[in-house]
Amino acid sequence: MSSRVAIVTGAARGLGSATAVRLAQDGLAVAVLDLDEASAKATVDAVAGVGGSAVAVGADVSDPAAVEAAVARVTEELGAPTVLVNNAGITRDNLLFKMSESDWDAVLGVHLRGSFLMTKAVQKHMVAAGWGRIVNLSSTSALGNRGQANYSTAKAGLQGFTKTLAIELGRFGVTANCIAPGFIASDMTRATAERIGQDWEAYVAQRAAAIPVARAGEPEDIANAVSFFVDERAGFVSGQVLYVAGGPRA
Ligand code: NAP
Repeated sequence: MSSRVAIVTGAARGLGSATAVRLAQDGLAVAVLDLDEASAKATVDAVAGVGGSAVAVGADVSDPAAVEAAVARVTEELGAPTVLVNNAGITRDNLLFKMSESDWDAVLGVHLRGSFLMTKAVQKHMVAAGWGRIVNLSSTSALGNRGQANYSTAKAGLQGFTKTLAIELGRFGVTANCIAPGFIASDMTRATAERIGQDWEAYVAQRAAAIPVARAGEPEDIANAVSFFVDERAGFVSGQVLYVAGGPRA
């Protein structure tokens, strides 16, 4: 119970999984939260592999009862969580004129409602501890992206959410920051390549050609940025949006 406890949502794979491992390497105990508890097992094993401790927690971040139960379980099994990484996300891309109401609601439900519910449930532990770190996953899509009216709206919304959290919670020793990744190789971007009928390797090469550092991002690139914001020494950095995109894009 001596180490700090982090909850990483959507941590069964991709950026969330890499972040869970990174935070464990930093000495935190990690709750690996995802829709399906069984799918979080691989990340729990990866954390154990680097000598860390983790628990798998199944919860839909857009369901208030599931969120409350998940945070209560983490508190009981690992200790009070004082680090929260709102990473769970989905895409339901389509051009505006073809976008269904359910695809709009689903994307805003996971990213915005989910981050709101998780933060509301965890912040009480941060306030009680007089210390906390909140990191929200935005995206370069917040700047606008064809076919992503729902997703870009959610990701821009998370930036406003983050800045307000920084203002409201700062006096309790809590910082809130946002990371806006560019193109990162993950299941989410693989699904995009599939949807537009492009071979994965060709898609990565094409995307990398437009990135100043001339490569696709890796989940660890994002995990390292999360690690910075969570660090004890980052206590005077709050309300910021860090574009981690291999170039400016802001
Ligand atoms: P990913 O590979 O699709 O992983 C997302 C994870 O979130 C999945 O395990 C998914 O579970 C889980 N999830 C979805 N809905 C959930 C819910 N309601 N409650 C709990 N967990 C849920 O995505 P990623 O590429 O790692 O992206 C992680 C975050 O970074 C997302 O917020 C994404 O928008 C953001 N991002 C990614 C990129 C990129 O290039 N990859 C760029 C910018 C921003 P299931 O598998 O069961 O659905």
